[in-house]
Amino acid sequence: MKIPFNKPYFTGKETTYIKDAVERGMISGNGYYTKRCQTFFENNFGFKKALLTTSCTDALEMCAILANISPGDEVIVPSYTFVSSALAFVRQGAKIVFADSKADNPNIDETKLEGLINDKTKAIVVVHYAGVSCKMNTIMAIANTYNLLVIEDAAQAIGSKFNGKYLGSIGHMATFSFHETKNIISGEGGLLAINDDRFVNRAEIIWEKGTNRAEFFRGEVNKYGWVDTGSSFLPSEIIAAFLWAQIENIDTIQKRRLELWHFYNDSLGDWAKKHEIQLMPEPKRETNNAHMFYLVCKTIEQRDAIIQHLKTKDILSVFHYLSLHSSEFYKDKHDGRTLPNSDKFSERLLRLPMFYELDIAKVVEHLISY
Ligand SMILES: *Cc1c(COP(=O)(O)O)cnc(C)c1O
Repeated sequence: MKIPFNKPYFTGKETTYIKDAVERGMISGNGYYTKRCQTFFENNFGFKKALLTTSCTDALEMCAILANISPGDEVIVPSYTFVSSALAFVRQGAKIVFADSKADNPNIDETKLEGLINDKTKAIVVVHYAGVSCKMNTIMAIANTYNLLVIEDAAQAIGSKFNGKYLGSIGHMATFSFHETKNIISGEGGLLAINDDRFVNRAEIIWEKGTNRAEFFRGEVNKYGWVDTGSSFLPSEIIAAFLWAQIENIDTIQKRRLELWHFYNDSLGDWAKKHEIQLMPEPKRETNNAHMFYLVCKTIEQRDAIIQHLKTKDILSVFHYLSLHSSEFYKDKHDGRTLPNSDKFSERLLRLPMFYELDIAKVVEHLISY
């Protein structure tokens, strides 16, 4: 039996709710299941307004529009992240100023943030890598000082907290992903969380193709029309129905993932020390949603050798992001600063299989035979 890197977990209720959505006779967006999901996120995670989107990428694009990013603006984004964290702002014409990771984890180094700010800077995008919180107190204080917007790319961070507050409820806006590789899933899917009142009404309009349709359906205006820019960012009820089945089981899913996380952490210490490999630093309980368990290998050669070794045992482990500042698309636009920590994680970080039904004992057994 091959062990994949990820296997989507189905709770069993997904098709029941999809069938129900179909029988309700309305399967476009912003219907029964969409509202149920959004209300859940608002009530349980402290977001002022939650809007389901077709992906985290789409939610990031909405943030870039809401922040009025335009040519000449600069946006600070970590280099060690998924393409979308930067791309959404590039599409609005921004110049990306890439930030380095911290030495001991891939999150943005908040101690170097002020040096990247100038009078063109409009926003800071932070990515809670592996679901572990960035230093949000420092980051929000800097943003307030320089009057910048903070956008949390919380794609991996559902259920994680910083100082008792859920991630995604701290920045001015935040985005989540329900891609099948994340903790709770809908195939493709995402969420925009708005925490600043200034952006709530406009977010709904941008979400609905630049129309005030959402207000119209609440009876707040007596006709609806084209009032702003936007796109079709909302998912169908079929996707929302699927997501509802996952949401209902979020506690069970998170608990299982956390068990797996601790199994890796408890089993691999001696082996890692012997090979001079670092285990993912153990986050405080409140900020561990067990999205991922990673190793930082001694060298890129060692990482390749471990990937190969596991492959011979039919186990798939994978590396992660390639620094965006040296990507084919952006390297000529980058200002030339070296970002050594981002490059270190690009070369040496290795992710181990992590999913609900994982036979983790087998992964550990074969890993420590390396
Ligand atoms: C998964 C991920 C995304 C993209 O999410 P989609 O829903 O696939 O658009 C963006 N940023 C980060 C940090 C991610 O992990």
